[in-house]
Amino acid sequence: MEHLSLSILGASSAVPMSDRSPTSQFLAVGNEFFLIDCGEGTQVKLRQHRIGFSRLKHIMISHLHGDHFYGLLPLLSTLQLLDRRSPLYIYGPEKLESAIRQQLAITDAEIHYPLIFKALNPSKKEEIFDSKHLKVYSFPLRHSIDCFGFYFQEKTQPRKMKKSELAKFQIPVAEIRQIKAGADWIDKAGNLIPNAQLTEDPPKSFSYAYCTDTMPVKHLHRYFDHPDLLYHEATFMSQESDRAKQTNHSTAAQAGEIAEITKAEKLLIGHFSVRYKDFKPLLKEAQAIFPNTYIALEGYKFTLNRKTREFKVEKENQHR
Ligand SMILES: [Zn+2]
Repeated sequence: MEHLSLSILGASSAVPMSDRSPTSQFLAVGNEFFLIDCGEGTQVKLRQHRIGFSRLKHIMISHLHGDHFYGLLPLLSTLQLLDRRSPLYIYGPEKLESAIRQQLAITDAEIHYPLIFKALNPSKKEEIFDSKHLKVYSFPLRHSIDCFGFYFQEKTQPRKMKKSELAKFQIPVAEIRQIKAGADWIDKAGNLIPNAQLTEDPPKSFSYAYCTDTMPVKHLHRYFDHPDLLYHEATFMSQESDRAKQTNHSTAAQAGEIAEITKAEKLLIGHFSVRYKDFKPLLKEAQAIFPNTYIALEGYKFTLNRKTREFKVEKENQHR
């Protein structure tokens, strides 16, 4: 449970190019893994990034525009060919299940592993995943069709017991849980030992919010706040703000504003229109509003380290 890391498999919009792929991200939070969106070619990208298919268990689909889910059917088919047995959970808009099952039926393709679809709620924030360490929520965005954002929030861990104090005060094992939860301790002589002396802060919990494709939603802070990392689409520059509005997308400046509103620690922007060959002006525009902005560059991995609290951006060692 050392890190939260995000691999950008694709971050482009609409039209796949020779050097730019449609949206897909692979998120690792400790030992839990999530594929977020699955544009055309995602399975090849997973191979290039050396992400084993056995790590696929949960797939989130934001909406049913092709550049966010046309890679799903081929991936499901490959998993069948690889003789997958374990269940695969897919979270997405209601019609996703019939879109996939109809294609499977028409092509006479059988999937033998359990394929479990969870339809997302387009009207409110909803918890869609809950494990020992993590919760995941979906929430509605504003696009031309139903579209969802996802918020991955690690649970706060209990405080850590200081081993030296445990020995010093001969605290019985049965009491440790209470103390980790914040209780003080009364020693044999009747002295109250405050919790702060017995315990230390738990490891930092991380959170990640994913928002694509959408117009700027000014009340996003009601769905999540203070994310350590926020991915927000920035399809256009401000000069194209009319175009952004017509197509239900955001500008780089608007992505910066959303990072401010939600009090994000760091912002990643992507989903740039293919008209932009150089991403630096988009970065500059967002940074003018929210300085701690990075480009979600395809082929890169962004890691938050729990121990050092460092944020690392590295090119992944890809295999072609
Ligand atoms: Zn879209």
